Amino acid sequence: AESELIRAQRFESLAMLAGGLSHDLRNLLQPLLLAGDSLQDYQDDPRLARLGKLVRDCGRRGLDMVHSMLSFARGARRAEQVKLGTLFSAFDLLMQGSVPRSVAMELVIDDPELSFEGNHTELQQCLLNLCLNAIQAMPDGGKLHIETSQTTLDDDFFLPEEQPRNGRYLCISVKDDGPGMEPAVLEHMFEPFFTTKETGTGLGLLSCKRIVGSHGGVMRVESEPGRGTRFDLYIPLEEVVSDALGAGDDDELEGAA
Ligand code: ADP
Repeated sequence: AESELIRAQRFESLAMLAGGLSHDLRNLLQPLLLAGDSLQDYQDDPRLARLGKLVRDCGRRGLDMVHSMLSFARGARRAEQVKLGTLFSAFDLLMQGSVPRSVAMELVIDDPELSFEGNHTELQQCLLNLCLNAIQAMPDGGKLHIETSQTTLDDDFFLPEEQPRNGRYLCISVKDDGPGMEPAVLEHMFEPFFTTKETGTGLGLLSCKRIVGSHGGVMRVESEPGRGTRFDLYIPLEEVVSDALGAGDDDELEGAA
């Protein structure tokens, strides 16, 4: 089961990298294609025209690959009705066998019938990342507490402009009593490839942030050396998030093809 979790985590990281990489690659390939085009039209020198065709054909193939990479990256991003009870029973099952005996996992779901618009797979992945981090932070054991509640946001929350602050939010808290984080770690933890672990990827928290963001939500962290760590995910319950979810760069891409 551990390897299944890690595979899921890798997949999400990969999807995220693929998304980012696709954009960069596309920006490289477009001028290349244009250059190939102009060379191909070069009537005076058949050798240049042949080179032009080669550049163009390779560029085309590259662009096709970028397209499939982008649709792969978007694959998991589908808005659907997520039921809290279903989300967490699947999650509980996934965690079984991955929680060491020394770690006591506690799961408190306030309203299993609660349902909201989101993406089941992405949220699972986000929870997995947070819980694996918590477990890894407690090699000598401890308590992993996961809890859901419903709330509104107070004024000290930073929200993207378009996000209404006074709607209802689902709050998912993941709390551990590990060593907590030093300010320097707290400051950098969301950066890609930032890790303090020997075999870490440094992509887990970034991917959580991306997932919560694509649900129109925000993430809050409380962590202090010696006092454990608590991540709170706030996901809007009432707003239509389908625009945020899966809002890819399709239009931009169509123009490029
Ligand atoms: P990774 O787990 O691969 O290191 P993450 O992005 O998930 O990548 O985490 C970045 C860093 O944040 C970790 O290396 C660790 O130092 C710190 N961190 C994350 N979660 C916790 C936690 N629950 N307790 C203590 N430190 C944490």
